[in-house]
Amino acid sequence: MSSSISSPKPVVVIIGAGAFGLSTAYHLLERGYTGVTVLDRAEHLPAVDAASTDMNKVVRSCYGDPEYTRLARQAIEEWRKDMWQNCYHECGVLNLGDAYTEQSFNNDLNDGAKVERLDSPASIRAQFPSDLHNSGRLGTFTSLDISSTSYINHDGGWAEAERAVGLLMEHVKKRGVKVLPNKTVQDLVKDEYGQTKGVRCADGSEYDANVVVLALGSWTAGAFPSLKLTGKCLATGQSIAMIQLTPEEAEEYCKTPVVLDFRTGFYVFPPTHRNVVKFAIHAGGYTYTAPGSTLSTPRTIVSDPESGMWIPRSILKELRVQLRSVYPALAEKPFSGTRMCWYTDSPDGDWVIGRYPGDSGLVLATSGSGHAFKFLPILGKLVADVIEDKLDPKLAARFAVDREMKPPNGERTSVVSQELNINELCGPEDLIPTF
Ligand SMILES: Cc1cc2nc3c(=O)[nH]c(=O)nc-3n(C[C@H](O)[C@H](O)[C@H](O)COP(=O)(O)OP(=O)(O)OC[C@H]3O[C@@H](n4cnc5c(N)ncnc54)[C@H](O)[C@@H]3O)c2cc1C
Repeated sequence: MSSSISSPKPVVVIIGAGAFGLSTAYHLLERGYTGVTVLDRAEHLPAVDAASTDMNKVVRSCYGDPEYTRLARQAIEEWRKDMWQNCYHECGVLNLGDAYTEQSFNNDLNDGAKVERLDSPASIRAQFPSDLHNSGRLGTFTSLDISSTSYINHDGGWAEAERAVGLLMEHVKKRGVKVLPNKTVQDLVKDEYGQTKGVRCADGSEYDANVVVLALGSWTAGAFPSLKLTGKCLATGQSIAMIQLTPEEAEEYCKTPVVLDFRTGFYVFPPTHRNVVKFAIHAGGYTYTAPGSTLSTPRTIVSDPESGMWIPRSILKELRVQLRSVYPALAEKPFSGTRMCWYTDSPDGDWVIGRYPGDSGLVLATSGSGHAFKFLPILGKLVADVIEDKLDPKLAARFAVDREMKPPNGERTSVVSQELNINELCGPEDLIPTF
């Protein structure tokens, strides 16, 4: 007679209600876990300054690495499902090229994505509504080296990030996960063998667990200095700017693809339903070492309400220059705001998802390295696989906490960050175009 008694599922406490944390909670639920708690420091969730809390994020499978292409294509399949209540907008992703896009084109093609190679400025302009051409609102794209690959991937677009996180949070709560705000986790509680068996919060409360998952995004290394994670989970500030369009302008731009220029890292979205166009540069960004600290930690609207949203003046200028190359007319408008948003960078750009060496009770799920959000529907599968010791060995080695971190994967023009000088941040007066 075979025994049908299965061992009880571990109790899991997840720190951080961002993309990594909530996706993990979701996938544990899907596997029948009943004792899952998510703790977050923020007073209101989703946390206003979390990387995952943003108006939009690019959803693309164009990766120079076939593994990420495969995972991203799985995620896109999920994004299309009813659960996401149309948070995902499949407007296509236009990739302007270099050597990286040659690889990503081949990976997309091999994985069956709907891609179209664009080998002339005219073929690129054809991806935009003709009104934009006629009104001179579109760039010429003549600076492109057309010997390198540019292409559009119709199986991609963008997701309403904050709304998606909110939906996922409500979904897991309805199914029994406790998601608790106002819980700043300060310490790991260890057993007599030095294994993690719970956490302690700033308010003195403690939560016992068989497994603790650290998914604190850019706060991870700073919150637990004894884990010595700085070299694996570096907090880097990245600059975003926005323009508020009129409804008439939004109408003109609403049928555009996401544009991603891999030569410079610049990317720009179509307008949101509130008629806001967001753009940014995917690059090395800025570290911030607060006075008295030795680690880079996020400097956000919560820690610095006065200036936590402002970005360096030089980047603001660069954003305007780059925007001009795609949408010249928009570049002449005042920006409506900026935001410093914090990546958690690993040196090789791969995520950190694995057990902390020597501690079977502690799992890390972080280092999104500026590209993890799109995987929200499936990220937590990988973390759940780690908890159940069944992550594919190739992926386990790739995401391991103690792997040897290789040089960057070429996705970004630069991963070299510089220290933020808060005296050089822009202010309201810099949002007006002056050049
Ligand atoms: C500017 C920018 C643009 C990006 N663009 C894209 C994109 O286009 N496409 C894409 O796929 N990805 C993109 N990303 C990357 C993506 O946003 C991140 O990889 C992902 O959101 C990281 O999720 P996370 O859960 O690690 O961190 P977060 O979302 O930051 O969540 C961490 C959570 O931990 C909580 N926390 C922190 N400290 C504590 C503590 N001590 N106790 C309890 N809770 C704590 C925080 O409050 C927060 O809610 C971008 C990121 C940035 C910054």
